[in-house]
Amino acid sequence: MAGAFTIQARDPSSLARAGVLHTPHGDIRTPAFVPLATKATVKGLLPEEVSALGYDMVLGNTFHLHLRPGEELIERMGGLHRFMGWSGPIITDSGGFQVFSMGHGTVADEIKGRAPHGSKGGASSGSEGRSSIGSEARSGAILAIEEGGVSFRSYVDGRVRTLSPERSMAIQAALGSDIALVFDECTPFHVERSYTEASTERTHRWLTRCLEWHFEHGPAGQLVYGIVQGGVYEDLRRASARVVAGSRCDGIAIGGSLGDSKAQMYEVVEWAMRELGGAHESRPRHLLGIGEVDDLIRGVELGVDTFDCAMPTRLGRHGCALVPDPANRWRVDLVKGRWREAPEPLQEDCPCPACSRGFSRAYLSYLARAGELTGARLLTLHNLTFIARLMAELREAILDDRLPEVAAAWRDPEKPLPP
Ligand SMILES: [Zn+2]
Repeated sequence: MAGAFTIQARDPSSLARAGVLHTPHGDIRTPAFVPLATKATVKGLLPEEVSALGYDMVLGNTFHLHLRPGEELIERMGGLHRFMGWSGPIITDSGGFQVFSMGHGTVADEIKGRAPHGSKGGASSGSEGRSSIGSEARSGAILAIEEGGVSFRSYVDGRVRTLSPERSMAIQAALGSDIALVFDECTPFHVERSYTEASTERTHRWLTRCLEWHFEHGPAGQLVYGIVQGGVYEDLRRASARVVAGSRCDGIAIGGSLGDSKAQMYEVVEWAMRELGGAHESRPRHLLGIGEVDDLIRGVELGVDTFDCAMPTRLGRHGCALVPDPANRWRVDLVKGRWREAPEPLQEDCPCPACSRGFSRAYLSYLARAGELTGARLLTLHNLTFIARLMAELREAILDDRLPEVAAAWRDPEKPLPP
């Protein structure tokens, strides 16, 4: 669909741009973070709470919703928007990542080449998003990877299921999402170049099949994003970006292994972004499964328009809060004993319910250690508030032509922003 994305401003010092992405259920102001509603809920929150934090779009997952409760039921209930009570835009991931994570063992944990997000290594449950895979999906089993599609055993009921490019698109059509992602193969970091190359080529053939299915049967107005693969190999990444950009997809997502360090991840993303410039830059770009504060800032500078990641919500459920502290990866682990008697709030100037009501770190720490739902909710609200403010400030900065100063202030809060 032409004209789905309007670029409003560009940062002259980087590839960053601010824009508005138009979908059947409304607009998304970009750059934007997209909270996960993997299983048709942003865990613990009501739709109006997510919306009130400033989020325009959420992300649902084809794999999980297909297995339970099933897209037929959701369709009978009026589609995913109505089913989950979210009237704004929804993007659905294709299920490729979840299916291949079963096949590649712990690929998901290493797909970014890093330890899973979260404290104590215990924050990886839930198999959300593309940044990790949890025990649920691991308890399923992949049975065959073929050109036609992938068969696997469901973690819900043990039945054999098949996902293919056409099947994934049909499920996303039944869900009625505003943006569908094509079915791709996610290759792990450790595989040989020859495997990555063959896998990337298959992803390109699957891209064609997804777009053909959607052209014939897709819901009116639903946008389709192709996915750039190619692992950490520059020629494969650039070639993949050119193939995806050359297709008739409406937007472009970057997926797969982005390397074993932040520096490598930024390099890999930049290769793709450079190929997506020029005639292709009018299409929106999404970076899959990335959401740490410094990665969001760098991603915006590299020209990414939207991001999704389990990190802010998952951290919240595991007693971790985001704070302006780059030295500690912008995190504070409230489960640690040092906060047991801390009277201060999480963050002085934060408008979230946890901070604005003055709840102490001591209280939040106690709730987290006691496993109280209220604690998970308050920390989820705080973390999503933190990320929403970051993205809103980056967006405003691009519009006001002051991105370098604002980005520097987020990277180093000790240095106050010049007037
Ligand atoms: Zn707060």
